Amino acid sequence: MALMLNGMGVSRGVAIGPAFILHRDKTEIVEKKIDRKSIAVEVRRFKSAHSAARKQLLKVRDAIPENSPEDISAFIETHILMLDDSMLSSTPADLIKQHHCNAEWALKLQRDSILAVFESMDDPYIATRRDDVHHVFDRVLQAMVSGNKNREIDESINWKNQIVIADDLTPADTVLMQHNGIAGFVTEMGGPLSHTAILARSLNIPAIVGLTEARRYLKTGETLVIDGDRGLVLADPDDQIIDHFHKRQREIRRKARELIKLTDAKPRTKSGEKISLLANIEIDDDLKLLRKVNAAGVGLYRTEFLYMHRKGIPTEDEHYKTYMKVLRALRGAPLTIRTVDLGADKEVESVSTGPLAHNPAMGLRGIRLCLNDPSLFVPQLRAILRASAKGPIKIMFPMLTTVPELLQAIQLLENTKEALRSKNIKFDNKIPVGGMIEVPAAAISAAHFAEHLDFLSIGTNDLIQYTLAIDRIDDQVNYLYDPLNPAVLALIKIVIEAGIRQKIPVTMCGEMAGSSDYTRLLLGLGLREFSMPPNSILEIKKMLRDTNISTIRRHALALLRCSDRNKQIELLGKLNT
Ligand code: PEP
Ligand code: MG
Repeated sequence: MALMLNGMGVSRGVAIGPAFILHRDKTEIVEKKIDRKSIAVEVRRFKSAHSAARKQLLKVRDAIPENSPEDISAFIETHILMLDDSMLSSTPADLIKQHHCNAEWALKLQRDSILAVFESMDDPYIATRRDDVHHVFDRVLQAMVSGNKNREIDESINWKNQIVIADDLTPADTVLMQHNGIAGFVTEMGGPLSHTAILARSLNIPAIVGLTEARRYLKTGETLVIDGDRGLVLADPDDQIIDHFHKRQREIRRKARELIKLTDAKPRTKSGEKISLLANIEIDDDLKLLRKVNAAGVGLYRTEFLYMHRKGIPTEDEHYKTYMKVLRALRGAPLTIRTVDLGADKEVESVSTGPLAHNPAMGLRGIRLCLNDPSLFVPQLRAILRASAKGPIKIMFPMLTTVPELLQAIQLLENTKEALRSKNIKFDNKIPVGGMIEVPAAAISAAHFAEHLDFLSIGTNDLIQYTLAIDRIDDQVNYLYDPLNPAVLALIKIVIEAGIRQKIPVTMCGEMAGSSDYTRLLLGLGLREFSMPPNSILEIKKMLRDTNISTIRRHALALLRCSDRNKQIELLGKLNT
């Protein structure tokens, strides 16, 4: 009988193939005291391991296929840069001399002291950097204990179509394995924000992470089915199960081919309503994707990345150059720039959000942080305004809670316009100003916000978090995250109606807008603008083109009024058939 295990699906799709268990037991590191004359020997051992590790990484970098997304080489480059940093290239040698210890122990001392700094921060992004520290140190350590052999991937093995089961995979592993044709992977560690998970999505490898003790239950050679959509692993499935998943694979491929045909099709419902399908973007690769799927423009440009991995905040010119690059890539399509939404799950080293907050999601974040420190906000406002002279730009404020807060932001924008005017610097005097509605208080009083704004945008990721009092990045309460919760739907409806009454557009830019399960429900509630990750656009377009709004409205409103979970699922089923 098939064994079924559950992990976290982080990259969609189904893979079927033999399991390959990667047993790479951790090397035990013991301290050995050495005498003065052995110091030079240990330093030499460290240096030659360091150089072997570097050579391995350069080899990985050269193996990256040319058409791979830029993220991939960036991850490998990060590891090379870490290796080249003095904290890894020379401090361990100093520690050998200082402590009269073996090279392995010196390496461990240095790794632990770096990790201690990381441990004091509990940000999920920082956690992924912790993984990087482990990966890079481990590579040097392995080179030390096993000569120059590459621990991760033995290229003499035939990886083709295998499903790899590992404790953890480095980005370098992932690239090499994809290069060697693996069908998918499962790891015991990791989360959806880890670099390896991001890479798996970019490389289209079905992947499941966080499946503790996977290597204890699975055996090399046995047939596995992994379902990256559901986080499911089936070991030793019978022919019937395999047939079922082969069918699903064919279905996924068929759907992808069908969707591509919709690239140039109009985003109109069957009943003729024109719907706007916009993209959420953040990194350069999103821009390429956006063009591929013919998005109508950008409904959410997250600008936090500009503040990451750097000392100090970006200058006005850095902002300006970045926005101009995106504008050029959009070739006349509108660009909605969200002013920076730092704090809580988007903490960065370059900007302080004050003393450690007990509850950062409710602390100094988003617009609160910007209003608290205009020196952070004004350079961005100036750059957005200057770029607005060159193309269709809208500005959007995140995390609004009260109307006075909005009015303060608008006043600051007006002052910034005045300062530009006084210097004869051009900008779009009528630049549309929108607000993200993602706090329940703002949703309930959306009508008041609408009086002062040109558009509203519903951020369901935060709206659900704040309405249901669940931290969006806390694994333990993830099960409560529910877009169908009656309170959430009621708030969405209030915002849509506020926009209709004020005759201003309402967009939804949270993840809910990119899930085809909810497209009809949202259309039935009156939503006409959707902004989502570019790779969801064609699927949503297909759904809306198959929708007759007048026939689904009744079900959508019934769902809005329903509080029984089973009945809701039944109604959603009716809506979507
Ligand atoms: C949201 O909260 O729904 C949203 C789109 O913003 P972010 O996910 O960046 O907080
Ligand atoms: Mg948000």
